[in-house]
Amino acid sequence: MKISYLPYELKLKHEFNISYFSRKTTPVILIRIEYEGQCGYGEASLPQYLNETQESIVLFLKSIMPIFKSYNYIDELLSIINDFKFNNLPAKAALNIALNDLKGKLNNLPVYKIFNIDDSILPYTSFTIGLNNLNLLPDKIKEAEKYKILKVKIGNGNDKRIITTIRGLTDKPLYVDVNQGWNDKFYALDILEWMNEQNVLIAEQPFPKENYNDTQWLKDKSPIPIIADEAFQTFADLDKIKDVYTGINIKLMKCGGINNALAIIRKAKDYNLNIMLGCMTETSCAVSAAISIAGLIDYADLDGNLLITNDPFTSDTIESGRLKLSSLPGLGINLFERLNFIEL
Ligand code: MG
Repeated sequence: MKISYLPYELKLKHEFNISYFSRKTTPVILIRIEYEGQCGYGEASLPQYLNETQESIVLFLKSIMPIFKSYNYIDELLSIINDFKFNNLPAKAALNIALNDLKGKLNNLPVYKIFNIDDSILPYTSFTIGLNNLNLLPDKIKEAEKYKILKVKIGNGNDKRIITTIRGLTDKPLYVDVNQGWNDKFYALDILEWMNEQNVLIAEQPFPKENYNDTQWLKDKSPIPIIADEAFQTFADLDKIKDVYTGINIKLMKCGGINNALAIIRKAKDYNLNIMLGCMTETSCAVSAAISIAGLIDYADLDGNLLITNDPFTSDTIESGRLKLSSLPGLGINLFERLNFIEL
């Protein structure tokens, strides 16, 4: 097996603002694994808060190369990578996605069929609307016309004004993401009760991730499900948060890929947690990998590839706002342009 990689910078259509920072680009590493005439593609997306860089991903890839040279069985490689000593989850996700894409192509099966996930109707994805200038909201909402659910980042102190302004323009259901921006539980409960009447369906990460007491208090009283995002990274966190939140936001970059996400989903269902599947700013490579398991979830927030201007892959991930499975082998993506991958 031959692995190559490519550092790539995703350009956002609009500046991305959340309660603690803003940015216009996101670095990623694209990965290609070649074997028996087929290529599998993967991706590590590296938003600042994951504490990984393009350099740390490349170091990880170099350290794992000897293993790739000595194994040719994809399933064996998938579990070795997962257990590999460094805890570099976006790099593990990239390799996991690429190996699953390759496995699908070698077996002429779409990835979701490898995992025996039925192809019944997938959920609608939410589409994130940036709020850096409320005067631009009418344009942003128009731009999101074909999506059925809108997601907004709140928690900056003008929550009611934002929702009221949106409600003056559209009655589409909303997901709100507080990104740890609240600190008063009584305010939080008050506003969630009000938002419940405004057709807000879920609220992500109301308080700082370490604030378990207030979060559990809020979860027990809130009419709106409370979803853990920053407080939930991977499998090991499930026991800590299962009584504190109504649900979890799983992202492949946080948990290390498709196989780990499936293990989390199984356990989360045992715990009766709601399951949201989200993404970072990503190309349609990593988003398609998430869509392959979207048949198992309650809420989808898989718009990362829709928010960038330079997706190097062609794919078809949405139809009338609903996520869509590809019937092509692997992830169902193709490289749109010739890119100069660097061989390891
Ligand atoms: Mg979030």
